[in-house]
Amino acid sequence: MHPTADAPASLDTSNDSHNSIAIDFANTYAKLPERFYSRTTAMPVAAPRLIKINERLVLQLGLDPLALATPEGIAILAGNRVAAGSEPIALAYAGHQFGHFVPQLGDGRALLLGEVIAQGGQRYDIQLKGSGPTAFSRRGDGRAALGPVLREYILSEAMAALGVPTTRALAAVTTGQKVVRETVLPGAIFTRVAASHLRVGTFQYFAARSDIEGTKLLADYAIARHYPEAALTTHPYRAFLDGVISRQARLVAQWMLIGFIHGVMNTDNTSISGETIDYGPCALLEAYDPAKVYSSIDQQGRYAYGNQPAMMLWNLTRLAESLLPLIAKESGGDEAGLATARESLASFEGIFNTALHAGLRSKLGMATHREDDEALAVDLLSRMAANRADFTLTFRTLCDAAASTDADVRVRTLFADPASYDEWAGAWRRRLESESASAQDRAAAMRAANPSIIPRNHLVQAVIDSAIEREDFRPFEEMLDAISRPYDDRPELERYTRPARPEESVIATFCGT
Ligand code: AMP
Ligand code: MG
Repeated sequence: MHPTADAPASLDTSNDSHNSIAIDFANTYAKLPERFYSRTTAMPVAAPRLIKINERLVLQLGLDPLALATPEGIAILAGNRVAAGSEPIALAYAGHQFGHFVPQLGDGRALLLGEVIAQGGQRYDIQLKGSGPTAFSRRGDGRAALGPVLREYILSEAMAALGVPTTRALAAVTTGQKVVRETVLPGAIFTRVAASHLRVGTFQYFAARSDIEGTKLLADYAIARHYPEAALTTHPYRAFLDGVISRQARLVAQWMLIGFIHGVMNTDNTSISGETIDYGPCALLEAYDPAKVYSSIDQQGRYAYGNQPAMMLWNLTRLAESLLPLIAKESGGDEAGLATARESLASFEGIFNTALHAGLRSKLGMATHREDDEALAVDLLSRMAANRADFTLTFRTLCDAAASTDADVRVRTLFADPASYDEWAGAWRRRLESESASAQDRAAAMRAANPSIIPRNHLVQAVIDSAIEREDFRPFEEMLDAISRPYDDRPELERYTRPARPEESVIATFCGT
């Protein structure tokens, strides 16, 4: 092409003061050594269109929702333009996938644009997912289909509203291009916000290369960003490991208490910050069943609902192994380091159980702790399993039953054998009578612990179908509104509280990468 005098001055509007979008990016991770990542830019897409901007989150991050919705802002969300100050990188990491170690995974379809400091002073990563191939893409196309983007948007926002630590959805755009999976699907790009994208697998990446210097740099970075208190102790790396174990133990307890099944708890999908990350074929339980698996790729049930605590401990053991050289050094030798790491890992069970049992007591309306409370909760859960009772609805209707026995009729209908509930309810009521709270106060406290609205699988599927088949995003918008206040009673949203009818039921969820 010949440069000509009358060529447009510039297609770049980044200096245009009317709609220019200023994101005050920091790039601390990009200042680590080059072997931590690969510098990449997104591959532009044909015709980006905005699906949704999460205005509240945009504002919390100190960004301008109006500017993000301009063509220039959408171009940034689609990877067609690099925002001023952004140094895009794809992060290196390894991971155990379904128990098998892969020494190099990395961001194969994601790009870290940079970090921003939110209003509270907390640092967050902003990442595009589905923005094109990177050095880590292997055979993948680096793209995302619309369905998984909407799923991640809904599920991560639902988890946030439920009070569970999680990455967040900042925006979603369609690309105007197709992606080829089992079928040809519309492409989309998801903008994710995370406390960071450090994973257990990031540590494994350096450990697998016997790169102790890299492991130390990474640990020091993670401590400064997520566990600054660890740096003040005599054994910072042990304190760091303890910190991750504690946050993850409490995170999994929260998953269990709302019936969340992650579906792909590989070590590369286990965050260092303690947030739920990488929403793939995840789902919330309907009928209570500890062996429940939704993911079509989890053939062995490795990541079944009831296995999640054990699998998290397994993943944290891989983190401890990766940190061993650092822990051994500060502990005064290999033997001492091993003993320290074992001790640290042994704390998981107690932290998990304490969080789980406290959560179960809240769900059942108990403000105090009695010796038999766990047994009472376990008895209910085993009756729910035997009777295929809907997990969310059982606990929500128990809130009314705590206020009045009149509501027992509704709980009973959730049990295949209603008498099984009656037997348990007698013991439960005797236990509640031992506390002084009024029935109304107790019911209100229970409603704050037992959601009414969760993103039920058949409704998430209906949202996706409507977007793909009819380009109708209204069900998506409605669902976002519904899941934003999960603990409120909103009679007009009754359909979001109902379990799937048999013909609506989603049997399997797909990764859809
Ligand atoms: P995930 O399923 O998100 O946990 O991804 C596992 C690994 O596969 C990560 O390294 C991803 O970056 C990579 N990956 C997943 N989907 C794609 C894709 N469409 N193109 C390239 N890499 C991918
Ligand atoms: Mg992943």
